[in-house]
Amino acid sequence: MTSNVGQSYPYSSETEAERSAAIAGLTGAKEDLATKVAAETTPLDARDRWWTWKCPTSGCRGILHAAGYARDLHAVYVVCDGTCGKTFLR
Ligand SMILES: [Zn+2]
Repeated sequence: MTSNVGQSYPYSSETEAERSAAIAGLTGAKEDLATKVAAETTPLDARDRWWTWKCPTSGCRGILHAAGYARDLHAVYVVCDGTCGKTFLR
């Protein structure tokens, strides 16, 4: 279940190519994550750059990458590329 909807300042940004490669790598490595993202998000719109965020999980140094828009919520659905591998809303 996605949790932790909250205010959080972006950490950095990445190009669309970097974002899509990061998400493809994450969802390609974990089938359950790919299923979850497909079920819980709608596609992002076309942009040149996307924000990234630092993972809020204690002890995790991952970066959060935009994977889609959360269904029925005005939030970006992000996936951690670090050890926790969790999803969040931003
Ligand atoms: Zn993490």
